[in-house]
Formats: sequence, C-alpha cells, structure tokens
Amino acid sequence: MNKSIVIIGGGIAGLTAAFRLKEAGIKVTLLEKNDRLGGVLYSYQKDGYLAELGPNSILETSPLVTELIQDIGLEKDKVYADDSSKTRYILRNKKPLPLPSSPLSFATTPLFSIMAKLRLIKEPFISAWDNQYEESLSQFVLRRLGREFLDYAINPFVAGVYAGDPDMLSVKHGFPKLYDLEQKYGGLIKGQIKGAKERKKRQEVAKQSARMFSFRHGLKMIPDRMKDLLGSDVQTNTRVKHMTKKGAVWEVHTIGSDGVEQVIPADGVLYTGRITDLQHIKIDGRIPDNVTELQQIYHPPVSVLVLGFHRDQVQHPLDGFGVLIPKVEKFQILGVLFSSTMFEQRAPKDHVTLTVFVGGVRQPKNAQKSIEDILALALKDLHTILGVKGQPTFVHHTYWKQAIPQYNVGYGKYKNILNDLEVTYQGLYFSGNYRSGISVADTIVNSEEVCERIKKINRKVRKEKSQRIQ
Ligand SMILES: Cc1cc2nc3c(=O)[nH]c(=O)nc-3n(C[C@H](O)[C@H](O)[C@H](O)COP(=O)(O)OP(=O)(O)OC[C@H]3O[C@@H](n4cnc5c(N)ncnc54)[C@H](O)[C@@H]3O)c2cc1C
Repeated sequence: MNKSIVIIGGGIAGLTAAFRLKEAGIKVTLLEKNDRLGGVLYSYQKDGYLAELGPNSILETSPLVTELIQDIGLEKDKVYADDSSKTRYILRNKKPLPLPSSPLSFATTPLFSIMAKLRLIKEPFISAWDNQYEESLSQFVLRRLGREFLDYAINPFVAGVYAGDPDMLSVKHGFPKLYDLEQKYGGLIKGQIKGAKERKKRQEVAKQSARMFSFRHGLKMIPDRMKDLLGSDVQTNTRVKHMTKKGAVWEVHTIGSDGVEQVIPADGVLYTGRITDLQHIKIDGRIPDNVTELQQIYHPPVSVLVLGFHRDQVQHPLDGFGVLIPKVEKFQILGVLFSSTMFEQRAPKDHVTLTVFVGGVRQPKNAQKSIEDILALALKDLHTILGVKGQPTFVHHTYWKQAIPQYNVGYGKYKNILNDLEVTYQGLYFSGNYRSGISVADTIVNSEEVCERIKKINRKVRKEKSQRIQ
C-alpha cells in the first residue's frame, strides 16, 4: 500500500510536490487557504495588458525546472525572454547604463571607474575567508571587489532579486554559489573559470547565463495547469489549523472559508506555506518553541505597480530587461522591469508595460503607502530615469505584506530548526522559498529534493510491508 501525504500550501513548492508525489503513486491532498492556487505566482489580464503581480519570469538554471514544465505539458506555451532583454541597466548619476556583459564592454563601460576596474586585478590574490564569524554580502564584496562593485553592481542586483540589503544578507546562506567559489577555488575569477566545467557536468546553468522564460498567458499558466492535473486532490479555501500524530498517522485539522471543519488522516505532512505562518498551526496541541523563533525571519513588504503607457510617452528605447537602482542614487523605487520588451503580448499595440518595485528592506514604508502616493512617487522617478511623460493608460497595484524571506546573517539557525523539526516529528516535511533559495527555480528544485526523500521512505515502507505479507 502506498503512503498518503497532506500538502499545506498551493504555491510553486506545494504544486510541484503534489504533481511529483501523485505521479509516483502516492495519495496527495493539497490544502490551500486562498481561493486560488499559485501563491505569489499571479498573473492578471485586462484591456490587452498582461500584468505579473508577483514573479515576472523563471530562470532555467536546472534541468529539474525544464523537466517539470515538460511533464505538466506546458512546453508548447513556454515563451523565452527576447534576446534584447539580456541587457540590464544600472542607474548611475541618474542615467541608466548597461551592465557590461563581456570583457570588452567591461573595459569601456562608464558604469565603473578606472580605479574600480584596476581593483579587480587584485581579486585572484585575496585569500579565502577563514575567520569564525559569518560575513554579510557587503563585507564579502568589499573585501574581494571593492566599494564601487558593492554600490553599483551588488546593491542594485540584491534590491532586484531579494528586495534586500547586502549589509544584512548572509553570503553563505543567501548566495551559497558565490560563497563556494571562494571556499572551493580560492576566489571569484578563479571559481568562474574552473566552476564552469563542473556546472556543465551537473547540467546546471549559472544564473547570469540561464535562459529566462514565462508562458503565453503569464506564469499563472502553471497553477492553472496544475489545478487541472490535480483535480479533486486539491482543496482551496481550506486553512490548516492544527495537526496531531496518533501512532504512525497524522491527523490534519482544517477549517474551510464556509466554517466547515474536517480531519484528514495521512502518513505524512508537507508544509509549504510561508514559514512565518507556521506559528498559526499547533503541532500535537502546542506551538513548538523553535517554531516561534522562525517568526524572526524578516519578510519585508513590497508593492508591485504594473503600469501601461502609450509608446510615445516613454523616451527610453526600453531595449533591455529593466533598470536596477543602487541605494546610493537615492531614488524612491527599487527598480523597473521593461515587461513588454521581455515578453510578447504584455501590452496592446503601440503600448508598453513597465513593472515597478517599491519598498523592500531599503524603504519598507514606501511599500505601505496608498496606491495614489505610490503611483506619484513611481511616476516622478520614471520621468527622471526613462523620460516617462503623462499619466499611465493602465495601473495595477499589488501589496505583498511579507514578500520574500531574507537569508540574513545567522540564517543557518533557522535551517537547523527546520531540520530538527523534521527529526522530532517523523513524517513532517518542509519545502519552500525559505529552504534553499528564494527564486521560483530554487523553490522547484527544493521541492523535488524533498519529494525524493518522501518517495524513498514510501518505497522502503512498501518493501517492508510486502516482505511481512510474504
Ligand atoms: C513581488 C515578488 C516578485 C518576485 N519575482 C521573482 C521573479 O521574477 N523570479 C523568481 O524566480 N522569483 C521571484 N520571486 C520569488 C518567488 O516567486 C517566490 O519565492 C516563490 O514563488 C515562493 O513559492 P512558495 O511555494 O515557497 O511560497 P508561496 O508562493 O508564498 O506559497 C505558499 C502558499 O501557502 C499557502 N498557505 C500558507 N499557510 C497555509 C495554511 N495554514 N493552510 C493552507 N494554505 C496555506 C499560501 O496561501 C500560499 O498560497 C518574487 C517574489 C515576489 C513576492
């Protein structure tokens, strides 16, 4: 007999797990508290615009991501980002400058001073960090690359990916590949050269060269497709209140939005909800002390403003991915994506879509402002950065109260708590953007890894049972 698993949460982590476990013959029940699947994957279409309210694209960094999309039958709907969106602009002295992508463009770019470029020559000769204390990303970059790289490459990049602050993020936990380059190869330049061969062997692609994709109707096509594939194994509008273990069986207690309560028995439970929400679920009648500690993981608020304009209203050629803004430039927005350049059919004819991010660790209060205030500050910045004039023809605002978990210095403590909980409560598993990376791709890979563990145990249990019967 096969095991049964209750999956809590219908974001990409929960959906990946439900699909993979069901495929392996395990009985799954996916419970989602909202009325829709997808978690932060959320696309909205209106008046010819396609707005991504959460993530805009997925990076094809692992074959596991490619395979998942193929296996759920979405390959034909996949769209790769336009080649022009390989250009990423960084703001310096209020002007968007392309981030260099080759040694020649690096040598000639005005983005970095001659001193900063010459400073790079030192990098291979700086020894690896072997002190006891954990370094922040800022400390790491200052030590290896210098101030200008921190201010004009790392700071805007981190604002764009994490909505985070390099002074607080841990290089070890937030950027493990960067950390490993130093630890394994003794430096970033050496590691880039030597590590390329190993990545090829593992069929992995470095983030900076991975292809970026979405779907014809946006990222929401993943949850929509999963909903069809999982059918009655999914219950939306269903929140998990508590869970108890009776012998080898878990009992998961839920309450529906209609107030109806249920108890679902299962051999295992996979929690994929936001990690700070785990404190709302009692385990065996109490909230374990270490679960309370997980609340300290900082998730800054972010507002996403999707704006449509007539092409004539924007001076900039929008020939790229978008503009990332360094903190030292002192703007009110974190960055802007050229969404309709990246993917086709994001805006009606002769119009463009820009996606603006506001708030994050840098300016959390900006994210909490009213839509009118956010629109005003965004339009002011877009005027300076891209020469945007007049009022938008389309506006959609989304407020993410707790957007992205920050893998700050000391994050290892939280990873250990999750490992401990899995040992203390046999049959309880965790997967999500808080375990081994925040991107959609990292979350899929993490979910696949946890599924492999569950499947292995399932195979063992089946083998033992069949041996007993014989
Ligand atoms: C604004 C924004 C932009 C981003 N941009 C990108 C990008 O461009 N590319 C990229 O790769 N990544 C991006 N990310 C990061 C990435 O999208 C997320 O880290 C990832 O999708 C998280 O997936 P998840 O399944 O772990 O969590 P979530 O998507 O948060 O899903 C968790 C689900 O669990 C449910 N849940 C929680 N508690 C319970 C309960 N008790 N009972 C039932 N259900 C429960 C929630 O309702 C939710 O649906 C972005 C994130 C944000 C917020």
